[in-house]
Amino acid sequence: MAGKELEMNDRALIFEISKPGRMAYSFADCDVPEKNIEQLIPREYMRENAPELPEVSEVEAVRHFVGLSRLNHAVDTGFYPLGSCTMKYNPKVNEDVAALNGFSSVHPLQPENTVQGCLELVYRTGEMLAEITGMEKVSLQPAAGAHGELTGLMIMKAWHIHNGQEQRRKIIIPDSAHGTNPASAAFAGFEVIQVKSNERGGVDLDSLKSIMGADIAGLMLTNPNTLGLFDENIKQIAHIVHEAGGLLYYDGANANAILGITRPGDMGFDIVHLNLHKTFSTPHGGGGPGSGPVGVTARLVPFLPSPIVEFRDGKYRFDYNCPLSIGKVKSFYGNFAVVVKTYAYILSMGPEGLKMASETAVLNANYVMNKLKEYYELPYERSCMHEFVISAQKQKNLGVSALDVAKRLMDYGIHPPTIYFPLIVKEALMVEPTETESRETLDEFAEVMIKIAEEAEHDPETVKNAPYSTPVGRLDEVRAAREPVLRWDKEK
Ligand SMILES: *Cc1c(COP(=O)(O)O)cnc(C)c1O
Repeated sequence: MAGKELEMNDRALIFEISKPGRMAYSFADCDVPEKNIEQLIPREYMRENAPELPEVSEVEAVRHFVGLSRLNHAVDTGFYPLGSCTMKYNPKVNEDVAALNGFSSVHPLQPENTVQGCLELVYRTGEMLAEITGMEKVSLQPAAGAHGELTGLMIMKAWHIHNGQEQRRKIIIPDSAHGTNPASAAFAGFEVIQVKSNERGGVDLDSLKSIMGADIAGLMLTNPNTLGLFDENIKQIAHIVHEAGGLLYYDGANANAILGITRPGDMGFDIVHLNLHKTFSTPHGGGGPGSGPVGVTARLVPFLPSPIVEFRDGKYRFDYNCPLSIGKVKSFYGNFAVVVKTYAYILSMGPEGLKMASETAVLNANYVMNKLKEYYELPYERSCMHEFVISAQKQKNLGVSALDVAKRLMDYGIHPPTIYFPLIVKEALMVEPTETESRETLDEFAEVMIKIAEEAEHDPETVKNAPYSTPVGRLDEVRAAREPVLRWDKEK
């Protein structure tokens, strides 16, 4: 291990291996006479000196960047049991489909009659997502989950204003919610009211009843919630909210617990967003383009972002004739390539395949949870859905925190799970194994977690100082995030 550590820590910067004149590529001589260049580019915009770029050969450049990429943990290199933000394996074939020339080379300003295939794909994907969620119609414009939340809340607001109910300025959100929920509600101009969870991890009905009133616009809910628990009272919850004139918003970022099993529409929800970059075959994380489509029930369709793709008289077209629409929420029509991957994923899985993915995700999570519950505290003794939350409180009493457990996992080649979230569980470790992992991988993970629990008991210092196998050990995480050093300083 020491040798490996040395190798990574001693990695030279690309500037340090640079040698003048070395290159990976030779450009053809410029065939524009120099004096013409000065006419094309005004002198004031030209450099005095050549930029100080590293000069390396092709193999050096390739080795440098491949080496850097290998310092990262990825779904392609190891188990990635992150909770709440599904980090599952996504079939590579869907990337190939999205890269097909007919999809990747079209321009968003092309006339409708030249992109009928693309419009058909958008239309059909919307129809399929409406079917999957039990909604009437879906907009594919929003670019992420949080963007979908904002869009959905703007629709909620427009609906209430349309009905002369502009005094409905408050949104109820459970204390187990994902952080984007209250942030989106505040961004949409609502006041956020928290509702407590009950002892089973669901919404406390009495608390909910006591805060419902003529000033409440609606309730935002994730079901199963971030504890991985399905709220059995959802029908009653929907009744309480609707009876008081409110609407129900469904955070469907991680819909891989329910595909083909139940639908937000059947539970009583009015507005839904999905994360295509979690559940429908676009890799999540790393900041690549995502998509957070929003679906609504029939009475809310007129408020959806415009334009909506319609099929009329044998042609697909953008319908801009939506007087009640909240308007556009994204330039052009959303992140189209993500939608292509979703379409390919849904068609290749089929209804039975989607249902099987959800059933397997739920089975895998319960399998691992049951293996670990003897060693880590389980705050809610119930079957979980696609993910579960355990607590390192037992270990904390020995001086080993959830953070220490997470760091130690890296030494065993496993990506740490989400920690300290949801906020209502102390020393939370949130695990989502996903549907794509083998039983052997799940067993190996459980064994490692049990081993760490044993280390916490007999050798806590080892866990507290982990990781040992990474290029850097414990960082000042706040400083690393707030003051990242992203630029090479020649003088240093
Ligand atoms: C990921 C996630 C979101 C936000 O999605 P982004 O695309 O990251 O904005 C919202 N709610 C839940 C439950 C999530 O897991």
